[in-house]
Order: sequence, then structure tokens, then C-alpha cells
Amino acid sequence: MAEKNVHKVIIIGSGPAGFTAAIYTARADLKPLVFEGHQPGGQLTITNEVENFPGFPEGVMGPELMENIRKQAQRFGADIRFQSVTNADLGRRPFVLTDDAGDEHLCETLIIATGASAKMLGLAEDKEFMGRGLSACATCDGFFFKGKDVMLVGGGDTALEEAMYLTRFSPQVTVVHRRDALRASKIMQERALKNEKIKFMWNSVITQLLGDADGKLRAVMIQDVKTDKVREIPTQGLFYAIGHEPNTALFKGLLDMDENGYIRTGDNSTKTNVEGVFACGDVQDHYYRQAISAAGSGCMAAIDAERYLAEHAT
Ligand code: NDP
Repeated sequence: MAEKNVHKVIIIGSGPAGFTAAIYTARADLKPLVFEGHQPGGQLTITNEVENFPGFPEGVMGPELMENIRKQAQRFGADIRFQSVTNADLGRRPFVLTDDAGDEHLCETLIIATGASAKMLGLAEDKEFMGRGLSACATCDGFFFKGKDVMLVGGGDTALEEAMYLTRFSPQVTVVHRRDALRASKIMQERALKNEKIKFMWNSVITQLLGDADGKLRAVMIQDVKTDKVREIPTQGLFYAIGHEPNTALFKGLLDMDENGYIRTGDNSTKTNVEGVFACGDVQDHYYRQAISAAGSGCMAAIDAERYLAEHAT
């Protein structure tokens, strides 16, 4: 069923980018409607403590931070709904979005903040150990493993960049790669290969994660794909760095994207190639990927939408 009401702004996504856009547009009295999507609060809800978000000298738990930003948006009147958008028609004005209950929502501007998801290995224990020894973000969690040897899975640029970052804290970082050749750029390979704190375990895949009595990671089972031999290797820290996937399936064919599926935005703005549609946070940024940079671009999207509405006032 279609709503008659045409919203000034609809925001899709509920991570730091989406909720910051909601705070700004709500304070500008644009009464934003926010669709939270299937992971309310975004990637921060699967991390533990966040120590690098300004304003929290003692650190803050990821889920608590997101709950606070959510409440802040609601305080100014953002209408936040625990629903996903399943279809977007950007060829019409106003734009038409369909939610997972089949209802249609009309809007003059759309802010896309659907984020990206770190790829997981898909082991049965992934969920159990996430934040309890397993992490998909070295920049976020490396510090917690100060003085401890850690392992990291992947062979691309992200893996090597994160492995090098982890050597700041860990005496040894073992990179587990499923082949005997790295995918990463030559320059990154050279740097990583000559870093004495980084060790490589080639042709190897992790098949199982094992925990201690407190439910924290204590070891991994690793299989040599050439010999099929499986052995147990103790580790308290494991990082997945096997790539991210932007959550852009909804907009394929509708918006310009780069070769990896990230939405292209204009220089120093959040404008997409469709007027009135803005993108912010990790869905358009595979480079910085930080909560604070996502929040900053959410603010930019809100201001871009507000200015667009002022320029196109009927
Ligand atoms: P990539 O897709 O480039 O690499 C992913 C790596 O993870 C590959 O080595 C792949 O193995 C491995 N992998 C994927 N799935 C699995 C799995 N299920 N099990 C085990 N291993 C797996 O992703 P990145 O995030 O590294 O990079 C994405 C893009 O961003 C690239 O274009 C990269 O160049 C760019 N980038 C650039 C940086 C820079 O310039 N400073 C920094 C970071 C990223 P395999 O090789 O066998 O396929």
C-alpha cells in the first residue's frame, strides 16, 4: 500500500553514517524516516569496546555507542523503523521505496547508508567468537592483543596492511593464506615479506575455532590444502581480512558504482549520479572505513540533502 505522505528525506541504514544523517536532518526539521535494515546499529554492534571514537576517554562498547546515537536521533523526531527496504525506484519523482512488508514510501531525497559487511569465513564458530578473540577489523581491535601473537586470514592488500598494523602490538603476526601466492599489490607484498614480525602460512585454511572455559578463543584447526593434514595451533587472537562487501545490491543498475560495487560519490560531497540521492559511510568508502569517518560523511549527506531540498523547494 502506498503512503500518500511524501517524506522530505528517507535514510536507509542505521550505522554511524545513517544515524548521524538522521540527527542532522531531524534537527533541520526534515522529519527523516529511517529504515534500520537487517543489522540495526551496523558493524559496531558486532565489535566490543570502541576506544577511538572521540568523546569517550574511557572507551565505549560498540552497541552502547550505537544505542546512544539512535536515541539522539529520536530525541529530535527521527522516525526509526525496524524494517528493511527491498526495492527502490529512483526513476520516478518522488522516489518510491518498498519495505519488507510490501508498503511503499515516497521521498524527495534519499540518503543511502547501508554500509559494508566484512566477509567471514563461514565457520560454525564465527559468531560465537566474534569479539571474544575473533575480529574482522585490525584497526578497531589490534590494540587489545598487545604483547600477544595473533593470526590473520587473507592474502590481499587489506590483509597485508592489517598484518603490518598488527605488528605495532603483536610480537608475531601469522598470515594464513589459502594459496602460495598473494593477491596483494607488489609493493605491499615486498613490505610484508621483509617485515620480520610477519610470518606466512601458505596453502592453509582454518577449519575450526576452539575456545577455552571462558568461551574465549584459544586455538584454531588449520588444514594444509596440499597434504590435507590438519593441526591445532594455539592463538588468542584471529583476524579475518578477506575483503568487504558493500551492501549495494538494491541499487545495482540504478546508481554508478566502482568495480567492487561501492557507490560513486562526487568529489568532497555525498552526491550520487542521481540528483537527490546521497550516499555516506562505508557504502561509498572502502578506504577509511571508520565509525568516525562514517559519522562525518553522514553529516555531509544530511547537509547535502538539506541544500538540495532548499534549492528545489516547490
Ligand atoms: P581482496 O578481494 O583483494 O582480497 C581478499 C583476500 O582474501 C584474497 O587473498 C583471497 O584469497 C582471500 N579470501 C577471500 N575469501 C576467502 C576465504 N573464504 N577463505 C580464505 N581466504 C579468502 O580484498 P581486499 O579487502 O584485500 O581488497 C579490496 C580492494 O581494496 C582491492 O582492490 C585492494 O587492492 C584495495 N585495497 C587497497 C589498499 C591500498 O591500496 N592501500 C588497502 C586495502 C585494500 P585469494 O587470493 O586466493 O582469492
